[in-house]
Amino acid sequence: MCAMAPAPRPPVRPLSIDEARARVLAAVRPLPAEDVAVEEALGRVLAGDVAAAHDVPGFANSAMDGFAVRSGPAGRRLRLVGESRAGAPAEAEVGEGQAVRISTGALLPAGADAVLQLELAREDDRTVTLDDDVAPGRNVRFPGEDLASGAVVLRAGTRLGAAAVGVAVAAGRSRVRCARRPAIAIVTTGDELTAPGDALGPGALHDSNALTLAALATQAGAQIVRTARSRDTAAATRAALAGALEAADVVVASGGVSVGPHDHVKDALRDLGVEEAFWRVALRPGRPTWFGTRGDTAVFGLPGNPVSAMVTFALFARPALAAMQGAAALPRRGRARLAVPVTRHPDRDECVRVRIEDGVATPTGPQGSHVLTSMLGADALAIVARGDGEVPAGGEVEVERL
Ligand code: AMP
Ligand code: MG
Repeated sequence: MCAMAPAPRPPVRPLSIDEARARVLAAVRPLPAEDVAVEEALGRVLAGDVAAAHDVPGFANSAMDGFAVRSGPAGRRLRLVGESRAGAPAEAEVGEGQAVRISTGALLPAGADAVLQLELAREDDRTVTLDDDVAPGRNVRFPGEDLASGAVVLRAGTRLGAAAVGVAVAAGRSRVRCARRPAIAIVTTGDELTAPGDALGPGALHDSNALTLAALATQAGAQIVRTARSRDTAAATRAALAGALEAADVVVASGGVSVGPHDHVKDALRDLGVEEAFWRVALRPGRPTWFGTRGDTAVFGLPGNPVSAMVTFALFARPALAAMQGAAALPRRGRARLAVPVTRHPDRDECVRVRIEDGVATPTGPQGSHVLTSMLGADALAIVARGDGEVPAGGEVEVERL
């Protein structure tokens, strides 16, 4: 019997952006929840609903500095019987022919049903004369106008911004239940990489990816637990990645993921037991992107070019971090018209860095994957679908907010 030549492997079709992202999202799991002090909650994602513990406002109070009175016609002359200040309610009730001086936010005294502002009253020796008719409820803020007791005011999955943190506090909370922050380790690879500010030898450049990726991860709610810079040897790459895998829920490597003789990331990850989910996406920039998992740890091998690293982080790693925190994972998509024509790539979807104004997407400058300044001022990626010819100026494309 003669030996048979192995059957040629069919070429693997690179995944589309959406297919690759779906594989990422299928692979990641939500992290457990923990209690977080409201002082620490900015940027965290709620793991449970927040309901108001009481009405907000909690009591009828004044919207103005003025006089708490009984409603009635203008021209009345009332005797001042006390004062209600914010945090120091009046002891007196407001009877017929009486008024209480009141500050904004102060409790409306018993007997009063309205407030007339200072500017519409004249005060003279413990009496006030009202210069305007006073309808019931005038300048009164009623209990529960903002939050009704028991009402859900923030939903699980909400990323807490400034207003949401304030609402949680107003609702009576000192702690909120949030997903644990994903722990992320960042490994940059390349013999050419030099620490920020260090003198550059021949052919060297400063390692910007370590910081852009850390910044993107932090903005996405992750906690940086380790960063390492590796030289382009199999041993160094493997050691850096092994350390990262021990420490993190998510490992992000940059560089060394392509087909060159000094690209060791893929082999190192396989040796370390990380199972490949995909390598290569029909995408520009960012084609060599690699993704895999080891247990619950998600591992991204991003290309080294600084724009490719940022774009692929935004397309794939950020949704993974959002999903791990229980937040909406898919970036907001919309449509915009291109300000200038863009030639389509024959077989890759191109992410053009753009600024969007009034529905028009203007590229931020030269689009080479090494031109990091093209990320400055970019607020979205315009996704120019692969194909023939060009999308003309005014042509519609999908856009993803950065
Ligand atoms: P690689 O993906 O390793 O082939 O790198 C592609 C290009 O990206 C090369 O020109 C590298 O010098 C550059 N590059 C790789 N890593 C970084 C980094 N951490 N910071 C800035 N540029 C990088
Ligand atoms: Mg390299």
